[in-house]
Amino acid sequence: MNKLEELFRGKAKSVYNTDEADRLILLFRDDTSAFDGKKIEQLDRKGMVNNKFNAFVMEKLEAAGIATHFDSLISDQESVVKRLEMFPIECVVRNITAGSICRRLGVEEGKDLNPPTFEFFLKNDDLGDPMINEYHIQSFGWAEAEHVEKMKQLTFEVNNVLKDLFLEGDMLLVDYKLEFGLYKGEVILGDEFTPDGCRLWDKETRKKLDKDRFRQGLGGVIEAYEEVGKRIGVEF
Ligand code: ADP
Ligand code: UDP
Repeated sequence: MNKLEELFRGKAKSVYNTDEADRLILLFRDDTSAFDGKKIEQLDRKGMVNNKFNAFVMEKLEAAGIATHFDSLISDQESVVKRLEMFPIECVVRNITAGSICRRLGVEEGKDLNPPTFEFFLKNDDLGDPMINEYHIQSFGWAEAEHVEKMKQLTFEVNNVLKDLFLEGDMLLVDYKLEFGLYKGEVILGDEFTPDGCRLWDKETRKKLDKDRFRQGLGGVIEAYEEVGKRIGVEF
C-alpha cells in the first residue's frame, strides 16, 4: 500500500489517502491540544504511544465483537484504517462525574453514576463542541435514527469491555468519547481510543492518568499514558 496526499490535518492526527480506495492512513502526531484547540503543545513520543495504545484497544474491541475501522499498525506513528463517512457527532459515556458535566450541572467531581450516563456533542471546534440531543441530530440531518441507535448501543458495549480491561489494571474508566462512521452502510467505530479522549484514574489513589494532566498542567502526561498502556498490556 502506498501513502498518497494528506486528506485532512486534525488537531492531533493527519489523515492520508492511499492507493486503496477504501483505506486511509492515520498519522498520530506529537501535537496535543485541549480547550477546542486553544492550548496546543508538542509532547515527545506522544504520537507513537497513542498509535500503539489505540491499536491495542481497537483489537480488544474487535475481539469482543465490536466492529472498528482499525486495520493494521504500519509504523510507530501510523495505522491503516477503513475509510469511513464520519458522523459529525461525539458520543460520550460517563461512569463517574468529571469535566464538563460538573461545570454544566454543578456537581462535584468523582460521583459514581448509576446507570452510566450518555451525551451527544456536535463536532465543531468553532462552536466549542456544543451538547446536542437526538432531536437535533434528526432535525439537522446529522445521522439517521437507526444509526443513532446503533451508535448508542455500541458506545455502551465499549463500556462493558473497557471498564473491565482497565479495572484489571487497577484503573477506573471515568468517561470517554467515541466517534463513528459508515462503512458500506454499517455503523462502525472510527477515530481513536487513547488517554487523549477518555479519563482514567488509579483505582486506589484516584491519580489522573489521562489528558486532564495536560489540561490541568499537572505534568508527566506521556509517562502517565505509558503507565496506563503497560498496565493493560500494551508494548511500546
Ligand atoms: P480533530 O478533528 O478533533 O482535530 P484529529 O486530529 O484526531 O481530530 O483528526 C482526525 C480526523 O480524522 C477526525 O476529524 C476524525 O473524525 C477523522 N477520522 C478518524 N477516523 C476516520 C476514518 N476511519 N475515516 C475517515 N475519517 C476519520
Ligand atoms: N472528549 C474528547 N474530545 C472532545 C471533548 C471531550 O475526547 O472534543 C473526551 C474527554 O477527554 C473526556 C470525555 O470526552 O474523556 C468527556 O469530556 P467532557 O465533556 O467532560 O469535556 P472536557 O471537560 O474534557 O472538555
